[in-house]
Amino acid sequence: MDSPRRRNNRLVRAQNTKKILMLVKDHEPVSLETLVRKSSLTYPTVLGIIKQLESDSHVERLAYAPTTGGRQAVLYGISGISRYVLGLHINTETISISITNLRDGKIFQATEPMHFQGLSTPELARSLVGLIGGILSKTRLENTSFVRVCITHRDGTSLDIRGIGSALETFLSIPVKILPDRIALNYLERQSYHISSLSTYMFVLFEEELSLTTYRGFDERLDRLPSTHFGHMTMVIGGATCVCSQRGCLCSYVNGEGLLKFYLDAGGEDQGVDGESSDLFHRLLAASYRGDRAAVIAIDRAIEVLAVALANVIKIEGVATIVLSGIFNSTDVRYKMQLEQTVANYLPKGFLEKPQIILGTTTPNDSAFSACLMMSADYFESLRFD
Ligand SMILES: [Zn+2]
Repeated sequence: MDSPRRRNNRLVRAQNTKKILMLVKDHEPVSLETLVRKSSLTYPTVLGIIKQLESDSHVERLAYAPTTGGRQAVLYGISGISRYVLGLHINTETISISITNLRDGKIFQATEPMHFQGLSTPELARSLVGLIGGILSKTRLENTSFVRVCITHRDGTSLDIRGIGSALETFLSIPVKILPDRIALNYLERQSYHISSLSTYMFVLFEEELSLTTYRGFDERLDRLPSTHFGHMTMVIGGATCVCSQRGCLCSYVNGEGLLKFYLDAGGEDQGVDGESSDLFHRLLAASYRGDRAAVIAIDRAIEVLAVALANVIKIEGVATIVLSGIFNSTDVRYKMQLEQTVANYLPKGFLEKPQIILGTTTPNDSAFSACLMMSADYFESLRFD
């Protein structure tokens, strides 16, 4: 039996090891001197920990610092070999595969056509496993090279993602995490330039469906996940049917049957635009800018619906910075300005902040890569050295 004191020492050592590893991750390439300064630990302690991390292949020597006379300092970084992360994005027509090392370096990235429709789950799992096997031999990785595996998918997918996941688990002998795209893409967006300086904002993503997420004052270490999430919500009683099967759902008025109904109700000509078309929003937006009366009315009404929803969330959450992403792109400036003004109209007079909208970007295929980043972060968070 360990004495309490020895147990305590071991615990402190484990915490210090984790601390040094995270410092290497955040500051690589980093010298021992910098680690000593940032950790407030002694030089011999840091040296001992680095040696242990090196022999466990968590950390490796990346380079030598430029000489300033005397000995050259070794620069350490996270080991880029032997541990990998696999991220997949699966939908009915394509599969995107991303493999990164633990330094978030892309080892492999591809989107392949897959004809999933009509296949049974075992058939589907077999073709997926075959595909992954091919990639493994191409990239010279083993089944056991992965420390984390994640499958992302759109909300409400008709595919049996859990079934596919467990087949993959058997093949790779590792638990497979399953996440909806919106969570993976939100994570990516939060890592990206557009919003990296924000700590409190509402993230509105429309990839194939709409999602609203509020982030507030997060601590990167402790809280990587959204604090509040809003999915589909009914805005128009008895309105058009949404993909979520609710009637009058917000989602369908941004880009879907609801928006199309507004257009047709305003006397718009159905020129091959249909509710299923993923670019209905931009086609109507462009038509409205060209002066199509019905399109102007439809877009105005759709903006009203979204603005009411956003104003309600702002009133509840007190967060008035909004990041628009997905179908909204950085050129939708006029739409953004109109939405900002309309949201302001629905807020009480003298509301603490004027709403501010930022335009961001992501694509669905980024989901697989984003899953890798999330899984890599998850791996580091889960490491214990006691
Ligand atoms: Zn809906």
